[in-house]
Amino acid sequence: MEIRTRFAPSPTGGLHLGGVRTVLYNYLFARQNGGKFILRIEDTDQTRFVPGAEAYINDCLNWCGLKPDEGPETGGHYGPYRQSARKDIYKKFAEELIAKGVAYYAFDSPEALEKMRNAFKTTENPSPQYDRQVRMKMQNSLNLGEAETQKRISAGEAYVVRIKIPDDETIRFNDMIHGEVSFESSVVDDKVLLKADGMPTYHLAVVVDDYLMKVSHAFRGEEWLSSAPVHILLWKYLFGLDKMPQWAHLPLILGPNGKLSKRDGAKYGFPVFAMNWTDPKTNDFTEGFKEKGFLPEAFINMLAMLGWNDGTTQEIFTLDELIDKFSMDRVHRAGAKFDYEKAKWFNQEWIKKLDPDDLCKRVAMSLTSKGLNLPDVNYLKKVTELVKERCTLLSDFYDQALYFFKTPETLDLESIKPKWNSEKAGFFDDYIQWLSAQTAWNSQDLETGFKNLAIQKNIKPGELQLPFRIMLVGAKFGPAVFQIAEMIGAEETIKRIKNALILLHA
Ligand code: GLU
Repeated sequence: MEIRTRFAPSPTGGLHLGGVRTVLYNYLFARQNGGKFILRIEDTDQTRFVPGAEAYINDCLNWCGLKPDEGPETGGHYGPYRQSARKDIYKKFAEELIAKGVAYYAFDSPEALEKMRNAFKTTENPSPQYDRQVRMKMQNSLNLGEAETQKRISAGEAYVVRIKIPDDETIRFNDMIHGEVSFESSVVDDKVLLKADGMPTYHLAVVVDDYLMKVSHAFRGEEWLSSAPVHILLWKYLFGLDKMPQWAHLPLILGPNGKLSKRDGAKYGFPVFAMNWTDPKTNDFTEGFKEKGFLPEAFINMLAMLGWNDGTTQEIFTLDELIDKFSMDRVHRAGAKFDYEKAKWFNQEWIKKLDPDDLCKRVAMSLTSKGLNLPDVNYLKKVTELVKERCTLLSDFYDQALYFFKTPETLDLESIKPKWNSEKAGFFDDYIQWLSAQTAWNSQDLETGFKNLAIQKNIKPGELQLPFRIMLVGAKFGPAVFQIAEMIGAEETIKRIKNALILLHA
């Protein structure tokens, strides 16, 4: 049997990090078993359709390097891969269910449903559902009989198709993470399968498509567990339980207070979506890991560890290593806590781990996206290697490296002034003289010259290094100051010292 997994998002908004973890686990499992990973767009709810959301999902998967083998863009033998283009397929299955007596036509208007909810509302049951308690009191084919039902349908009356949930049945399945899970049918309602617009609901479409697309394993978020009984019944009625994919319901991702939400991101200042997303209807903006400065390798690595480990203390994994090591039986049941500090740690480790040429390319993109004109790559590569230890996010390189490319616009003179005096000013005047006479220009010589001159002048070199750093960098940070001088060159070093001296004299 071919292993076929799928990611089946509804294109309704940004892609939450939990969604990407779902993609990742499906992807890893398919790759590891020489199978196929499918992208299926579940866009049957036209009221929730958001323009641009599908393209955004593709961009996110591309950025993460988790490309589907089959999908709306890639194609494949089991298409179309967008459910809205499969509308005609589902109707026949809905009719088959009706013919088998396990589904029925329902003509109730939204007002009638509202009335039912009010009429059956009790303190124990504040939101009554359309289920075996009420179905025989409603306008549906179970009540109205064949002739009346056909008459209404021929007259063009709007209807939906609902599943008829059996009485007192225990519905069971084996989850790859949770083991045996069971539900009592008495708590499940008669879910709509086909809507008045002829579109299937998620429940019908997901089952039909998993069958037709020969999905062998479906890993999805735990929030879908409550839908499982309806899906299992549909599998039983339509295709047989032996054909049902192996399911795994992935543990929730927890934020600082319970389930991680989009709002947590805004509240605590961390991204929750893979990439920036602006809702076209509300203009609501949510920050993405990509734009925040995460490397996709680190993002994927961090997500893999949200709910899984390989049983050792290893935390840094490449995608290939994950393909090799990942196993469903090591995925935890309990919710996995998202820790933003830990996410940044992963990124920092990946910045250190990346091949210097590769890192340099990505830093170049990050810097140019902030409007910096870049000098030659060799220079940038040296800068990148010098500052990378100080960078947690790709976006940190701009602040950490800007002074290598531009004369600082402001200098933290307040940190120099309290201990500044004419001897120190004299030292820098002479150091400029000495620097101007240098033919070789390397950090060791610059440091030796600096120290010798300081000793000659009876000033502790340590007291001069901070002013020198501020002259070159503008502030109190950065790698060894003589390395900075070596990098920016004689002319620029002398210029920056002179500028600072003028400001200090003023
Ligand atoms: N369309 C569902 C979603 O938006 C898919 C859930 C499933 O994988 O069954 O997540």
